[in-house]
Amino acid sequence: MARIVMKFGGTSMAGTERIRRVAQIVKRQAERGDEVAVVVSAMAGETDRLVNFCREANPLYDPAEYDVVVASGEQVTSGLLAITLQALGCKARSWLGWQLPIHTDNAHAKARIGTIDSEELLASMAGGTIAVIPGFQGLTDDNRITTLGRGGSDTSAVAVAAAVKADRCDIYTDVDGVYTTDPRIVSRARKLKAVTYEEMLELASVGSKVLQTRSVGLAMKEGVRVQVLSSFIDENAPSADTIPGTMIVTDEELENAQVERQLITGIAADKNEAKITLTRVPDRPGAVSHIFAPLAESNINVDMIIQNVGRDKGETDVTFTVPQADLARATDVLQNQREAIGYNRLIPDTKVAKISVVGVGMKSHAGVASTMFTALAERKINIQAISTSEIKVSVLIDEDETELAVRVLHTAYGLDAD
Ligand code: ASP
Ligand code: MG
Repeated sequence: MARIVMKFGGTSMAGTERIRRVAQIVKRQAERGDEVAVVVSAMAGETDRLVNFCREANPLYDPAEYDVVVASGEQVTSGLLAITLQALGCKARSWLGWQLPIHTDNAHAKARIGTIDSEELLASMAGGTIAVIPGFQGLTDDNRITTLGRGGSDTSAVAVAAAVKADRCDIYTDVDGVYTTDPRIVSRARKLKAVTYEEMLELASVGSKVLQTRSVGLAMKEGVRVQVLSSFIDENAPSADTIPGTMIVTDEELENAQVERQLITGIAADKNEAKITLTRVPDRPGAVSHIFAPLAESNINVDMIIQNVGRDKGETDVTFTVPQADLARATDVLQNQREAIGYNRLIPDTKVAKISVVGVGMKSHAGVASTMFTALAERKINIQAISTSEIKVSVLIDEDETELAVRVLHTAYGLDAD
């Protein structure tokens, strides 16, 4: 017997027919004698619809009430899945966030999970009842409903898996695993059998939409075994226990698995960045801190930074990127600081894309970045900024060249399927 947490996303829960298919997959797992908890998303599009109601009611809505509204999408699907499982002859019941409860802090609309009371849940599961838990929601210490931020059901699933010490957390989604890159851009992209937590963390944060970044960080911290696999399968599909999807593993597991590794594991593209250039900033100690301190105070995340070589007269241009959603606020902050910083012009640019190559193999091999630069240069793709970490190299390019760049790099690193 194993204890398995299964998570189904919005596309898998969109309507009665699909929920029936989900119920069949869950039933199959339970019939193997496993203890099963299922974490569900709202139906696809539902959270957007609910968010819009709040905005229409008042653009400056109270986040605590927003959470009451948007948490309802998952309440509906958890009840519906329990009903459908019962119709298939399974014992099942729903557990809303407040009923367990799933304790969170009080940062409404982006709350973090603290602890989960799982005693009753575990007793119920041990008695053979399938637990259905709405993702995305929790409860503050003063009994207000919270939500975890968009895509938060992944994090709910991993947190539940950690709390009940599950043997595995299977994340069922509309793709059948993690790919070397987006298969819609590169048809010869390959599905990966395994990626490390670190790689997945980097891929998730640079625009590979498979898992919420926070869920990967939590899985890594808690040592939760996570598999990403498709819910769009038929009855004869191999069981989840044979690991047909992508398994997220530690570095050691990956080495032991001795799967043949390429230097680069995956390539991701992110069009949600914006570039800001400040011209003729005084080239003296402290100038840069006048730019970035106020941005940090306003909670704006700066990613890539370049300070161009000082021209004559002790002036320099500074270029950096921020999330596109924060561009208006960043511009506002910098305009207010114009005198303190002493720049001449502020040039915003949203037509940029960040392309990242990720792989643990980089730790022990040189030349990854130069392969990237050469491949892009051969196609005359101009690089506007560069940033690196131990297992990632990112470049900023013109947004129109995104697809070309991803294709070229996929080939250059030998990732194309034969
Ligand atoms: N329904 C929520 C959203 O769309 C949470 C989730 O699906 O993960 O963001
Ligand atoms: Mg999702």
